[in-house]
Amino acid sequence: IDPGHGGARLGAVYEDVMEKTINLSVSKKLETILKDYGYNVVMTRIKDVEIGLYERSDIANAVDADLFVSIHSNAADKFPDFTGIYTYYHPSSRRGAKLAQAIQTPLAQITGAVDRGIKDADFVVLRETDMCAVLVEMGFMTNHGELMDLISDSYQDKLAQGIAEGIVSYLNGLK
Ligand code: ZN
Repeated sequence: IDPGHGGARLGAVYEDVMEKTINLSVSKKLETILKDYGYNVVMTRIKDVEIGLYERSDIANAVDADLFVSIHSNAADKFPDFTGIYTYYHPSSRRGAKLAQAIQTPLAQITGAVDRGIKDADFVVLRETDMCAVLVEMGFMTNHGELMDLISDSYQDKLAQGIAEGIVSYLNGLK
């Protein structure tokens, strides 16, 4: 699990809320759920520390992770009405697309958020990781209502639950 940003890299900041904080909080919840299910979980960061993009993929590659899931929150300055969830995968990765869809569906269902679908993108963490990798954009910090959801403990639980469900269904599908 890769909680986006950290330390001096705040990520998006709106209404005094920093993206790095939301990402870490949901990632920790996701870690707890997956560990409860018996999975071996490695976090690229567990604190508010700065960590480079290549360092993140290096960590995942070094431990030979089966999956890489990066956790982010979105922003669209010019479109304050935008809400909803995207899950990204690398254009060269068919299994990435499969995992992205496996996560996107239960995540949108459990949270009730707008399902913006899956999208491909040449992000460093998706390109440089050797394993199946996705990046989840959990919602728009530029939308006041969704920002309030993103900082709410109960909504963060739903986000973590939805992502976990997707991971489990993807892994079970490989058996
Ligand atoms: Zn981000």
